[in-house]
Amino acid sequence: MDFALSEESEAIFDMARDVGMAEIAPNAREWELQGTIPKELWPKLAQLGFGALYVSEDRGGSDLSRLDATLVFEALSMACPSVAAFLSIHNMCAKMIDTFGSDDLKARYLPDAVTMEKVFSYCLTEPGSGSDAAALKTRAERTNDGYRLTGTKAFISGGGYSDAYIVMARTGEDGPKGVSALIVEDGAEGLSFGGLEDKMGWRSQPTRQVQLDDCPVDAGDLLGDEGHGFTYAMMGLDGGRLNIAACSLGAAQQALDMTLDYMRERKAFGKPIAEFQALQFRLADMEIELQAARTFLRQAAWKLDTGAHDATKFCAMAKKMVTEVGSRTVDQCLQLHGGYGYLADYGIEKLVRDLRVHQILEGTNEIMRMIVARDMLRA
Ligand SMILES: Cc1cc2nc3c(=O)[nH]c(=O)nc-3n(C[C@H](O)[C@H](O)[C@H](O)COP(=O)(O)OP(=O)(O)OC[C@H]3O[C@@H](n4cnc5c(N)ncnc54)[C@H](O)[C@@H]3O)c2cc1C
Repeated sequence: MDFALSEESEAIFDMARDVGMAEIAPNAREWELQGTIPKELWPKLAQLGFGALYVSEDRGGSDLSRLDATLVFEALSMACPSVAAFLSIHNMCAKMIDTFGSDDLKARYLPDAVTMEKVFSYCLTEPGSGSDAAALKTRAERTNDGYRLTGTKAFISGGGYSDAYIVMARTGEDGPKGVSALIVEDGAEGLSFGGLEDKMGWRSQPTRQVQLDDCPVDAGDLLGDEGHGFTYAMMGLDGGRLNIAACSLGAAQQALDMTLDYMRERKAFGKPIAEFQALQFRLADMEIELQAARTFLRQAAWKLDTGAHDATKFCAMAKKMVTEVGSRTVDQCLQLHGGYGYLADYGIEKLVRDLRVHQILEGTNEIMRMIVARDMLRA
């Protein structure tokens, strides 16, 4: 058993950290205030292959392993977890198109997804169905040319910002087997958006409802087969969960690094606060938790890469554990900064806000436990 990253993997991590520190970190706070990420950023990341991390090479993608992809998200999150997580959603969509799309669909959408000239959003959640996603009600009625979509998608990251949307909609019976996945491009007739959601964190990413009102979709824009959309949507989520966990890990590591520097400088009672043993123990506890989280996350990624039978369970366990460790760590880092941790200028309070949602999306951490417990009881 070899726990070391290969030289190539180290290089991927370093490349992502460097571009994050150069292109994202200096702007992260400003983008949060503006409530948007400039679209010019994406082609710069795409030039490094980050627009299609696990799209096959013959379609212009990077064809990275899931493990290497987590390194990209861990490293980019050191600059800003909100930007990194948005990139993860686009990559999840690109992978869905590459894996399940017809040759025609791939030829039409993948080139722009790879270069990030087009950014993609993932539309599963609805106002009445989140955790119970298979209860979705958005309908795709058959027409002579394809479908007409009617319904509302809630909490869509990139809603009103992205260039195309993968929409899970009902083409058949109730439940997961009646769901199909369809691509809707920005500007489509009947496509509109709700107001900008005012969120606790992830504020640089615009989140809106996506409304579909008799929105025509060509038959050629059906992704894969009718009735398989829910399976495609769930398959994307295993990797998405690893990425979200990696985003928590990178941001927490960044907060811990910043805290070490701060504690060496900040004095109280005549000495640097780093010299108080009670605080040193807290540093040690954070280090132990973060290292354990990193190892667990990489094991789950390895399971997904090797097609292990329990990969879904491990992705769920890692998502739950790492996102909770991440939030605990950034909260502790804020505490160790004292009052300054509460000030935006110190960069820690943003991480506390950004990481909180990682326990809620890509399946809540309660749902992660449900997946784990079901698997245990089945076994
Ligand atoms: C900032 C943000 C961005 C998002 N981006 C996207 C996106 O891009 N695309 C998208 O499709 N969705 C997106 N979501 C939606 C997200 O995936 C859902 O919010 C999430 O799945 C939870 O659904 P819900 O909010 O409806 O909560 P509910 O499902 O209503 O859950 C409420 C509470 O009940 C718990 N619960 C529910 N069922 C069970 C159960 N069986 N057992 C135990 N506990 C249970 C939940 O864990 C939760 O604590 C986003 C959400 C946020 C906040």
